[in-house]
Amino acid sequence: AKSAGGNRFEFADAEADARAITRHGLTTALPAALERGEFFIEYQPLVHLDDGSVHGAEALVRWCHPQHGVLGPDRFIPLAENTGLIVPLGRWVLQEAVRQARFWQDGAPGGHRATGPLRINVNLSPTQLQHPGLVAETVDVLERSGLEPGALCLEVTESALIGADDDLLKPLRQLAEMGVDIALDDFGTGYSNLANLRRLPVSVLKLDRSFTQGMQQHPADPVDLKIVEGIVHLAHSLELAVTVEGVETGAQAQQLRELGCDTAQGWYYARPGAPDRIHSLVLADAV
Ligand code: C2E
Ligand code: CA
Ligand code: CA
Ligand code: CA
Repeated sequence: AKSAGGNRFEFADAEADARAITRHGLTTALPAALERGEFFIEYQPLVHLDDGSVHGAEALVRWCHPQHGVLGPDRFIPLAENTGLIVPLGRWVLQEAVRQARFWQDGAPGGHRATGPLRINVNLSPTQLQHPGLVAETVDVLERSGLEPGALCLEVTESALIGADDDLLKPLRQLAEMGVDIALDDFGTGYSNLANLRRLPVSVLKLDRSFTQGMQQHPADPVDLKIVEGIVHLAHSLELAVTVEGVETGAQAQQLRELGCDTAQGWYYARPGAPDRIHSLVLADAV
């Protein structure tokens, strides 16, 4: 007779198989999904911590799969990375997000608000960084939309840039020279050498959500607070702005404001959503 343990293993195997099949199925379905227009973008506002006004929005891609429903990026971005499909998919996200940002700017009186033009943040994966067409394509997208380069921020993860050589940094330098902001995403998770920051063409640090989560305890861990305070101090002395992710409560927002962070993003302000949401927030700010 089979032991319960044996059954458990069979169950686990079946689950692993189902996951593998889905992974394989999703991977092979990606190119057609892009052609059929099954991807869409949700936007999450980035707000100024001092007054809560909208600074911009981050573009977050989703896949509306005909059988599996809406899939988050964690389900398919790694697959798109492996197969190289991330290059055309990333190009589509950039085009679409930049077009959307231009549209928001047109909607606000004068196209600009008191705090400057509305900005758009787009994630770049490591494969896109290595793609030789990155700079030319970005220039092209900006020129065709009429969005000023200074309104675009490209987010690159800290781990993608650890140990980066000059070849990898060159396209980022070129984009930064044009006025495009480069943000170091998920900062604090990659064990990068802080002194190395000076070498990178970045103008924004995005503090990883794990720091914000550490502040959820009451009272917040004093060591966590010291670490964030230290990072903010260092960032500002290098003339980098600090954005925090994953702000879920007013208490966290207050604490991060006191620690000197510049902008924030998180469910406390808004979940990622349809573009109209940003449009109405911007219009509300502009009055
Ligand atoms: P990320 O760049 O770190 O994006 C932030 C993630 O945190 C998003 O997850 C967002 O929905 C989530 N988030 C925002 N506020 C909160 C909060 O208050 N609490 C919690 N618990 N979570 C919050 P999402 O949309 O699932 O995206 C996951 C990751 O997928 C992103 O992490 C990014 O690395 C990647 N990604 C998304 N869109 C793209 C894209 O167009 N291209 C590439 N290459 N990667 C993308
Ligand atoms: Ca990001
Ligand atoms: Ca992040
Ligand atoms: Ca993240």
